[in-house]
Amino acid sequence: MSHDVTRRADAIVIGAGVIGSSVAFELARGGRQVVVVDKGPGPGAGSTSASAAIIRFSYSTRDPILTAWEGAQLWFDWERHLGVRDPDGMVEFIPTGNLVFRTTGFDLEGITALWDEFEIPYDDLDGPAISRRFPWLDVGSYYPPKRVDDPAFADDATSSLSALYNPTSGFIDDPMLASRNLAYAARQHGAEFRFHTRVTAIDRDERAVRGVTLDSGQQIEAPIIVNVGGPHASGIKRLAGVTDDMLIGHKALRAEVFVAPSPPGGSLEDGAPLVADLDIGQYFRPQKGGTLLVGGTEPECDEMHWVDDPDTDSEVPSVEGWETSMMRLARRLPEFGMPSQPSGVAAMYDASDDWVPIYDRSSMDGYFMACGTSGNQFKNAPMAGQYMRAIIDATQDGHDHDADPVQFRGEYTGQMVNLGAFSRRRHKAATSNTVMG
Ligand SMILES: Cc1cc2nc3c(=O)[nH]c(=O)nc-3n(C[C@H](O)[C@H](O)[C@H](O)COP(=O)(O)OP(=O)(O)OC[C@H]3O[C@@H](n4cnc5c(N)ncnc54)[C@H](O)[C@@H]3O)c2cc1C
Repeated sequence: MSHDVTRRADAIVIGAGVIGSSVAFELARGGRQVVVVDKGPGPGAGSTSASAAIIRFSYSTRDPILTAWEGAQLWFDWERHLGVRDPDGMVEFIPTGNLVFRTTGFDLEGITALWDEFEIPYDDLDGPAISRRFPWLDVGSYYPPKRVDDPAFADDATSSLSALYNPTSGFIDDPMLASRNLAYAARQHGAEFRFHTRVTAIDRDERAVRGVTLDSGQQIEAPIIVNVGGPHASGIKRLAGVTDDMLIGHKALRAEVFVAPSPPGGSLEDGAPLVADLDIGQYFRPQKGGTLLVGGTEPECDEMHWVDDPDTDSEVPSVEGWETSMMRLARRLPEFGMPSQPSGVAAMYDASDDWVPIYDRSSMDGYFMACGTSGNQFKNAPMAGQYMRAIIDATQDGHDHDADPVQFRGEYTGQMVNLGAFSRRRHKAATSNTVMG
């Protein structure tokens, strides 16, 4: 079958979510002619649209913490990062602080050592100190998280929790608008975005990519392709046939987020923090309008819903997931008014084997990936764009990123981020094995 070559570009980015748009922005401002192709209706309409958009620094290992801290500085001064003001509006960072409970399996001592090194501020709070600051929170430990039909679910607390409190965390008020801001900035550098356009084939010869074929049958030629397909990334990777040398896998995982009323005294306006609570298997954050966004942290007792075909997964959250989530939340928030109706969304993470993303090249020349973002990389989108540009530039210059990983100097801290930490060929990182990273 012969195809029309409709376009030649320097780079094709597959996916215009928050990370794809950031990659496009960085490649375009680096001087490349970029075409972004997305099957959806606009920037950020994929899994990004469901994101809780939390910005926090509580990852398990060094390079992800440094990445989140560097990335936060870019969100704090968003217009400076973009170099332009989007006439359709700019996202806002909403500061809340972050309370992270000290829980079995989440090494807060390792985290504090790194926070000290990077000068990330925090208080270490014992149970009474948490209660004084946030009296609406129960500080009992119920670990491990349990199913609601487990007879031990309603058992009394076994001890009192302590926590770290970081005052500089918060969230971005509109994740889809964040993607639109990045796409707008990318367009100022000449990037072209094509929506309602699906990539159906990766065109390649023996060694290198040549471009993509679209659902229209048209082709775009380019020597660089970046797979930023979110939950579709593993399917795109199979299209490209670049799985041979990957040591880290990634796959779409269903994730449900619910809306619940804030407890009295625990709203955004009251200064409630976002809470990472592996003790009950939940995270939650306040949002405008007196409600909380509530997500799960994949406790061992819960079944994981891996998704083979992301196009067919329902966006309606399950009643079972909602009940579990609300019952668990009621343990932590004694004055919580249980809602009578489910409210929320179902979306997907592209979860990697160790919950650390893959920002890397591949075994095929010209084919790169920014995927496996594991439900925790919204905050790192501005850094992911810069990392991909650094890896692509180095690789195109003949550098062997696999043998000698690119080191990236953080502008704010001056510290070096080892981009080998995000390699497809890494050994599994020692993380919490949950969305917390
Ligand atoms: C429920 C939920 C809550 C989250 N909460 C947080 C949080 O609080 N903090 C945090 O840091 N991170 C969070 N995340 C993670 C974060 O939102 C994601 O890591 C990030 O949004 C992924 O962006 P992306 O651009 O890689 O993917 P997406 O936004 O999914 O974009 C991928 C795009 O690729 C397009 N595409 C796919 N296949 C094709 C194809 N064949 N051809 C053309 N286009 C294609 C899709 O249409 C889509 O627009 C959360 C994620 C979810 C799902």
